Amino acid sequence: MQTVKLDGQNIPIGKIVCIGRNYAEHIKELGNQTPDKPVIFIKPASSLVSSGGTVVIPNYSDDCHHEIELAVLIGKTAKDVTAEAALDYVSGYAVALDLTLRDVQGEQKVKGLPWEIAKAFDTSCPLSAFVPASQVDNPQELQLKLTVSGEVRQNGNTRDMIRSIAELIAATSAYFTLEEGDVLLTGTPSGVGRIVSGDVLEASIEQVGTLLVTVA
Ligand code: MG
Repeated sequence: MQTVKLDGQNIPIGKIVCIGRNYAEHIKELGNQTPDKPVIFIKPASSLVSSGGTVVIPNYSDDCHHEIELAVLIGKTAKDVTAEAALDYVSGYAVALDLTLRDVQGEQKVKGLPWEIAKAFDTSCPLSAFVPASQVDNPQELQLKLTVSGEVRQNGNTRDMIRSIAELIAATSAYFTLEEGDVLLTGTPSGVGRIVSGDVLEASIEQVGTLLVTVA
């Protein structure tokens, strides 16, 4: 069974619920519309890779993009929770990458088909260890930074989310029961771009940690 680390403990992971289009500048750079409801998709636990690991780009894509995201760990069962109560269900925060086969996703979008083959492949979800939620002062005021082989590609702040973490938990818990060990990825700021074999990705979020992976 896949597990994630929280404060030195191994927690069995459930589903990874991901939010698309949650930062205005990123919506602009891809020419998308601001959604009137959250854009939601799921990655399986088999997509995980830990810090220090290797990303393998599937051979059916020639355009794999990095997306740095704040990951939220659910600590107890949440169903139809209000935004006011939502942060009570959070046990930790981590650094994640929502790796995306942009060429494949583009074809799926045109055809109106689901995104999973572009978003849920093995190693599409590099994830750091979680820090306890109590160690983060304000999760809506965290700088996110991603470098690729030393070059800064993404540099954003969680204050620029269109929907807050609390609003995202409330919205997603209306569709799915969120359970202990589920992870929520909260969207990426602007600056997404292509990664290639040999790249070293270093993603960091202040107060949360650093994630380091290499592309095979
Ligand atoms: Mg994303």
